Amino acid sequence: MKVRVVALIALLTLAAHPFRAAVAEQQNPNAVANFVKVQAPIVALTHVRVIDGTGASARANQTLVIRDGNIADIGDAARVAPPEGATVIDLTGKSVIPGLVMMHEHLYYTTGPGVYGQLGVSFSRLYLAGGVTTMRTAGNVNGIMDINLSRRIAAGEMPGPAIDATAPYVNGPSPFLQMHALANAGEARKHVAYWAEQGATSLKAYMQITRDALKAAVAEGHTRGMKITGHLCSVTYAEAADLGIDNLEHGFFAATDFVADKQPDVCPGQARGQQALAAVDENGGPFKALVNTLVDKHVALTSTLTVFETFTRGRPMPPGLDVLTPQLQESFKRAYERVSQSPQSVYTTLFPKEMQLERAFVKAGGLLTAGTDPTGAGGVVAGYSNQRQIELLVEAGFTPIEAISIGTLNGAKYLGRDMRIGSIAVGKQADLVVVAGDPSTTIADVRRVETVFKSGVGYDPVKLVDSVKGQVGVW
Ligand SMILES: [Zn+2]
Repeated sequence: MKVRVVALIALLTLAAHPFRAAVAEQQNPNAVANFVKVQAPIVALTHVRVIDGTGASARANQTLVIRDGNIADIGDAARVAPPEGATVIDLTGKSVIPGLVMMHEHLYYTTGPGVYGQLGVSFSRLYLAGGVTTMRTAGNVNGIMDINLSRRIAAGEMPGPAIDATAPYVNGPSPFLQMHALANAGEARKHVAYWAEQGATSLKAYMQITRDALKAAVAEGHTRGMKITGHLCSVTYAEAADLGIDNLEHGFFAATDFVADKQPDVCPGQARGQQALAAVDENGGPFKALVNTLVDKHVALTSTLTVFETFTRGRPMPPGLDVLTPQLQESFKRAYERVSQSPQSVYTTLFPKEMQLERAFVKAGGLLTAGTDPTGAGGVVAGYSNQRQIELLVEAGFTPIEAISIGTLNGAKYLGRDMRIGSIAVGKQADLVVVAGDPSTTIADVRRVETVFKSGVGYDPVKLVDSVKGQVGVW
């Protein structure tokens, strides 16, 4: 009783005194300030190795000056001295790369068979902790949360990357409980218009869409300045390119172009598409023709090797599982066991093959971007998986410098934001990831994140992760 009275008095006092309310706000464990490590008008990073994201070689012993959220100066330590009044941070033995710009992210995660739980709060913190400063949600199954989070992060009310918020999936009738079933082109157009007005900034088409509905969604989206990507099946990659799609997800994994008896507007099943893809000759005419079509029509491709790695036997346990709730950790471990005990699966052939196909696409002049796709049977954990995706690009045969460029500048180019973000250059927004070591030679060093600067404010990855550890799956 006594406690209750005290609590009541405290509550009344709080309400009556704005100053006390401000103190209470500071004590809010979710306030953005709690995750900030560096915040000053001028910051000078000294003796740092700069990997600028353009594909240029790493430059050792640089001084990088951040002023009012932007990169103000950068150069050899001998030439550029920290300005008067700067907060100086000695980064000897460390490197800085651009903030990651990731293109197939979600604010949801597989929490049950065919059920996706909304993890917007924890995932946005984990993405930032992992070095992601800009991301696109490639599809959403909740409606408004991606849009609200995007706005609240932009307003500085919550920590997280800048979010290009995708509207709920543009799809035809499907087995998915959390997707709209758009019956025709008119409904697709209305769906796009409605979500654009709600604040969505991009679109994603899905496996059961018809060519007519896709065409309508592309037209309505483009009128409103939104780009549209797709994880397709009923529509082939070549058809989608002709219809004006901007991007295709999962590299070539979702292409049904090589299914011999493919019926128009019908998804023959993802498995049939993948069997056909496994048999495709990467040097043969049909594959080269498809690549040429995509390159000619400026259709970008998003590599999401991370999610496919979880389906492939003999691969290492993915990173970051310990932040999940115990139930979700267990559930993924069971899935991992199933994969490791399954006999020959198509992914044994397809996973390494997909790596070759993505390289061939880049070699032909295509724009490859990076993403992770936290779906499947779990195990693709925000932030950790983004670092893993960069490592997998190196395993695919790209140099570390190229892989970092794919995960940064290429995403910015796709978003049309490369004047401001995606690489380290004077005048650009100070979105930077400080890592221990040298990822230009040892790509695994991208996991050793020490500070993530977003618009010049340095966030602490340890605090971000600790704030959600063991609870990812709940919020
Ligand atoms: Zn996805």
